[in-house]
This record gives sequence, C-alpha cells and structure tokens, in this order.
Amino acid sequence: MHFNIISIFPKMFDAIIKYGIVSRAIKKNIISIKIWNPRDYTYDKYHTIDDRPYGGGSGMLMKAEPLLIAIEHAKKTTQINTKIIYLSPQGKPLNQKSVSKLSKISNFILICGRYKGIDERVIHSSVDEEWSIGDYITTGGELPAMIFIDTLSRLIPNLIGKKIYIEEDSFCNGLLDCPQYTRPNFIKGIPVPKILLSGHHLKIKKWKLKQSLGATWLKRPDLLKVIKLSEEQKTLLSEFKKDWNKK
Ligand code: SAM
Repeated sequence: MHFNIISIFPKMFDAIIKYGIVSRAIKKNIISIKIWNPRDYTYDKYHTIDDRPYGGGSGMLMKAEPLLIAIEHAKKTTQINTKIIYLSPQGKPLNQKSVSKLSKISNFILICGRYKGIDERVIHSSVDEEWSIGDYITTGGELPAMIFIDTLSRLIPNLIGKKIYIEEDSFCNGLLDCPQYTRPNFIKGIPVPKILLSGHHLKIKKWKLKQSLGATWLKRPDLLKVIKLSEEQKTLLSEFKKDWNKK
C-alpha cells in the first residue's frame, strides 16, 4: 500500500512512521509513506499557503494552487489507479465495512486540510472521494489521515497475525468483541470466568459469541438493528438478557 500525503505538518506523521504496525510494515516494504508539503510549492517570499475566504467569515482557508501543485507532483510518482482522498468532516463516515473495501486499493493520495479547510475547487477538480473519521471537528486532516492509514494497514494480510485475529475484533461480524482476560486469574477479587479455563473449545466459542452479543446489546444496541441474527445468536442473546436481568 502506498500513501502519498499532502500536509503542511509532515513531522506529525512520525507518530505512525516511527512506531507500531505501520512502522514495521514500512521496514518490510509492505507500506510506503511519502509526504508532500504544499508550502514547498509556494512562490512568494513568505511561502503563503492560506488566505482569507471570499465573502468574509472568520478564519483562513488553504489556498488552491499549492495544494494542486503538490497533488500533481504526488501523482507523477504514483500509479494511474491512485485514489485521491480528502479527509473531511463532510465526507462519508469511515466504518469497518468501508475500511475493508478501501483496503483493496493500493495507492492513495491523502489531502490534509487545515484552518477552515481547503478551497472548494481543489475538491471539485482533483478529489475522488471525501472521507470523515466522525461527526466532530479536528484542527487538521493529519490525525484523520493517520487513522485512515492505520485502520487500512492492519487489514493487510498477515501484517498483524492470522486473518482470524482481525476477524474477532469489534465490527467485523457486525458485533462488538467479547470481554477478554489474561493472567492472573484474580484481579481485585474478580475471577476470570471459569469457562475460559476449562479448555473446552466448543463451549468457550459459544460463551464468547454470547458475550459478544451481550456486549453489543448493552453498549451499542444500534448495531443489532442492522444485522440479521442467526437462530443460534438469537437464542444466545436471549439467554444473555435473562442472565443480565437476574443480576
Ligand atoms: N470548516 C470545515 C467544516 O466545517 O467542514 C472544517 C475544517 S477543519 C477545522 C480543518 C481540517 O481538518 C479539514 O479541512 C479536514 O481536513 C480536517 N478534519 C476536521 N474534522 C475532520 C473529520 N471529522 N474527518 C476528517 N477530516 C477532518
């Protein structure tokens, strides 16, 4: 996967370039990250990348020309099928399903806005898709771009372990993950559920599914409205609800 990033704060990306899974993938040549700074494509004395918006209003806007030139330079180094994405609160909201689809693409140019955002003509002339990390506003597109890269990268086959490892996480099958425990057996007087120590794989699998259904029901009931539960899942969920109501 190749990520070309358009950002006025290249150093921010050290957070993923130097640490964690993405860093490891870069060392293995599975991922490449190249950053293009629009400031390098300004031709005035002050390297101006922002200006006041037409029509007034508060704040500054990123100027179109430095962004467009940076995008053109990035494009010259990438494949023709490169997706140009603007990280924007007005984009489609990212979720595990969309991340999974996007992870089939190997070349991206990610545009990070700042200030009040970017000149609309950049979006109209050069952007393929706008993606949002949620219904809230960050000060710039760098953190959203890092989230985008991180979530896509972890789906690269075998990068963080077996396929099953990723599939067990929340949202993959439409449910939240089940509660997890590690040693020691007791913490603050709370034991690890006995079943997890039983070694009975089938029973453990069933318990995990039941807890996963229960966690979803308790924490994100909205998710249950959009998936079709199997008969077994329905039974396990009603058992969970009964147990819960007895508590
Ligand atoms: N005025 C813009 C609006 O209300 O739509 C918000 C601009 S925001 C302060 C500056 C930049 O941060 C945006 O250009 C975008 O790149 C990024 N950004 C902010 N919130 C985001 C979100 N939820 N998802 C993706 N990018 C976001």
